Amino acid sequence: MTIETKASINFADINAVEFHCKQCGAILIRKLDEMLRVPRACGNCDAQWNFADGPEGQELLRFFRRLLAYRSIGFAFDLRLQVVGLDEELKKKS
Ligand SMILES: [Zn+2]
Repeated sequence: MTIETKASINFADINAVEFHCKQCGAILIRKLDEMLRVPRACGNCDAQWNFADGPEGQELLRFFRRLLAYRSIGFAFDLRLQVVGLDEELKKKS
């Protein structure tokens, strides 16, 4: 028997985004607001994240802006992201 824990995240509940540096493991947390920019480098080790000004960075910025806009649109439904595999993540951390 397999037991899987699932959770869902409502878009309206997302208030910040985290950028995890693959080089040093630092986490940059940025509030999800109109001032949010995609970082150009890690604030800890200065690893360059060269995608910020390219198409991928701009697309990511548009995605963040859509998340913000979603809060004020007032759909007749809640849009949620479903997350699976929480059991494995909790096991890794214990
Ligand atoms: Zn770093």
